[in-house]
Amino acid sequence: MRAIRRFTVRTVLPAELHDLDELSLNLRWSWHTPTRELFSGIDPQLWESVKRDPVALLGALGPDRLAALAADQVFVDRVRAAAADLHRYLQDPLWYQEQVAGGEELPAAIAYFSPEYGITSVLPQYSGGLGILAGDHLKSASDLGVPIVGVGLLYGAGYFRQSLTRDGWQVETYPLLDPDGLPLTILREDDGTPARVSIDLPGGRVLHAHVWVAAVGRVPLLLLDSNVPGNDEAARKVTDRLYGGGGEHRLQQELLLGVGGVRALRVWSRLTGAPEPEVYHTNEGHAGFLGVERIRELVAGQGLSFDAALEAVRAATVFTTHTPVPAGIDRFGRDLISQYFGGDNQIPGIDLDQVLALGAEDYEGGDPTVFNMAVMGLRLGGRANGVSLLHGEVSRGMFNGLWPGFDAREVPITSVTNGVHSPTWVDPRMAALEADRLGLDELTADTASSGWLDPARVSDEELWGMRRELRGQLVDEARNRLRRSWRERGASPAELGWVDDALSPDVLTIGFARRVPTYKRLTLMLRDPDRLRSLLLDPERPVQLVVAGKSHPADDQGKRLIQQLVRFTDEHDVRGRIVFLPNYDIGMAQSLYPGCDVWLNNPLRPLEASGTSGMKSALNGGLNLSILDGWWDEWYDGENGWAIPTADGVEDNDRRDDLEAAALYDLVETQVAARFYDRDERGVPVRWLQMVRHTLATLGPKVQATRMVADYVHRLYGPAAVVGRTLNGPGFGPARELAEWKQHVRGDWSHVRVDHVESSGVREVPQVGDLLSVRAYVSLGNLSPDDVEVQVVHGRVTEADVIESFTAEPLELAETYEGGRAAFARAVRLEASGAFGYTVRIVPRHEGLASVAELGLVANA
Ligand SMILES: *Cc1c(COP(=O)(O)O)cnc(C)c1O
Repeated sequence: MRAIRRFTVRTVLPAELHDLDELSLNLRWSWHTPTRELFSGIDPQLWESVKRDPVALLGALGPDRLAALAADQVFVDRVRAAAADLHRYLQDPLWYQEQVAGGEELPAAIAYFSPEYGITSVLPQYSGGLGILAGDHLKSASDLGVPIVGVGLLYGAGYFRQSLTRDGWQVETYPLLDPDGLPLTILREDDGTPARVSIDLPGGRVLHAHVWVAAVGRVPLLLLDSNVPGNDEAARKVTDRLYGGGGEHRLQQELLLGVGGVRALRVWSRLTGAPEPEVYHTNEGHAGFLGVERIRELVAGQGLSFDAALEAVRAATVFTTHTPVPAGIDRFGRDLISQYFGGDNQIPGIDLDQVLALGAEDYEGGDPTVFNMAVMGLRLGGRANGVSLLHGEVSRGMFNGLWPGFDAREVPITSVTNGVHSPTWVDPRMAALEADRLGLDELTADTASSGWLDPARVSDEELWGMRRELRGQLVDEARNRLRRSWRERGASPAELGWVDDALSPDVLTIGFARRVPTYKRLTLMLRDPDRLRSLLLDPERPVQLVVAGKSHPADDQGKRLIQQLVRFTDEHDVRGRIVFLPNYDIGMAQSLYPGCDVWLNNPLRPLEASGTSGMKSALNGGLNLSILDGWWDEWYDGENGWAIPTADGVEDNDRRDDLEAAALYDLVETQVAARFYDRDERGVPVRWLQMVRHTLATLGPKVQATRMVADYVHRLYGPAAVVGRTLNGPGFGPARELAEWKQHVRGDWSHVRVDHVESSGVREVPQVGDLLSVRAYVSLGNLSPDDVEVQVVHGRVTEADVIESFTAEPLELAETYEGGRAAFARAVRLEASGAFGYTVRIVPRHEGLASVAELGLVANA
């Protein structure tokens, strides 16, 4: 076969239609219905055949058609109006422009790094939840006016396209993407040549990359592409696929993302005049080398020591961990890291050991031979968070070893619960109904309100009619996908008559779609196939299931699960009630969530950090049926869906699956189907609709990604910017001082101890309201009383003498003595009855510390 070189020739638009260029390149169209309607209206059939891709649509219009459009004044006016609307959206002051951070300005710019971005199916640069979340983060930041700049990689073949063999085995294909055919522009130097960033590799090799820019509304997203002239063959392949390779290939991707990403930001600012980021957000560990690069900049450019640079960098860095599943955390061999940061490739002024220490698992249970990217993320991030309340708690326990001596509750990892971008995920018909009932032309983050759910504005029949319409739309779509899949699996059209009747727009529809790692338990529903069969085929109250999901190409276990499920869906008696749709992606998701009455999620608790698909379902009036894990653990309220009871603590996984599957079948039969088919004389399921209204009204506002981004701004970006500015101020004095202070405290800490504690003041039988006077005598060695905080830690104690739900309050310096000794005192009011306990401890104190646990130093009484 001859190798064919392909490239895309972009259309030259007539002057009257010039604005279509910008309208097609700014991805706001992907969540702005009027702009999409402008494009689809040009040629509805062509629009469908180019898979609703504006750039491809324009490319497919011939010169005659373009000339005709340019001569159509009504159309030309619409284009101009759409462009004017886009410009207003890009320039108007929005929410962010009205906020402050503790009296100071919010960051002028925030850099957001992620290995994947799911923005639209037209730009397939994601594998699952992490990428979709990153896309929703950027879109919502844009809607709020948050000055984020995204950084990622441009993968030549994205993730992969999934299809099935006749026998139900997953097949991966990697269609090559041509960046010129994507909604991207290449970043150019002033002389017109593509801008380039380069990083040194071992053995004298150099890795170059071009920078493509996607406009996500107001947010620029910089994507590095190593498939460029000047790279050797291997270097060209660094960005070939998302999560494609292992080991060294993955490390090179992450170096390009982190180190190359920071360099791309510098080029971006130089060429566009955009402000330099004041805060850096590392979305999961993969991009962690961005911290090493910023340290390098400060060591080389400002003459800072490694430690001082580390302080300056940490202060302005936010790290988000996304998974408690070990396979989700990148770990490299230390020897591999040594090749990239040692020997010939050592960074001037930075020792290999200093880099290795950042990712070292030097805590109990750690592996001394590995370099852990999540651990590096935590060491380089002055602020860190998990992605739901439960995941925050799980992460504090999981990483407790990094802060020895502190209780898991004090581990400095907070949580910001994920959210989803509603303009992307609410079905346009649903949004139109909502806007109509609110008397609005267009629904925006500002104007959405649950007021439309008032029965006086939308009746049960109308709401139920909408739900049926969405279900019907999914049924049509599912049949088309099923037919295509069977053709690919080798069936002839004559064999596929049954597909026309597969699924029904009137049957209770349950959706299950997600990646297929083992902990998500794709096949839990198959635990008892006969029981499932009888639910599907119930003559009175049937259930139908729509299932989708990709397995990682290297995960044969996941592929076996898919095959097991597909084989079941192929059985003749049930194939009209349960379908597996290949190639789960954003395009499928956008009809799947709205069309399902119930969204099923049954992970092995607590391994689902948050989950977001159920949120998207809820925004369309779907009810969740889920294990109490991730976000559902936080927001399930008894009326917005159902909680599948978990067999927590049952060690035997098989047994646990049996128990949880049985609970699932029972719930579906006795609660879910029963309620769905409980109709009044109008044919309306009144109780069901009450749950739908309740879900829309109460979950709707919480699951918004605008809420999530606002949380990040106020709880993490703002504080990081304030401290970051201090430490990165002129001369970096405070950063140097903080680094020296930490060294001093670490060096002297072995002399710090609580010598003796006295107390007085409570009655013989203590009562609520009594004041307990605590006086502690301490030795501080060479540290001064200002360097420490002596705390009384008090609260209710358990029978095992553990203080639960404690408060830590500082004691005041009362007296100093010779030889580095001092007395501290405080009165504590007894607030509650019951078993009370207290203890005294000493922790380091400095205004530059983000948490008492930061140094991992504590002296307990
Ligand atoms: C939302 C979404 C996901 C993530 O869903 P989870 O509930 O986190 O598993 C994955 N893929 C697509 C296409 C999505 O839209």
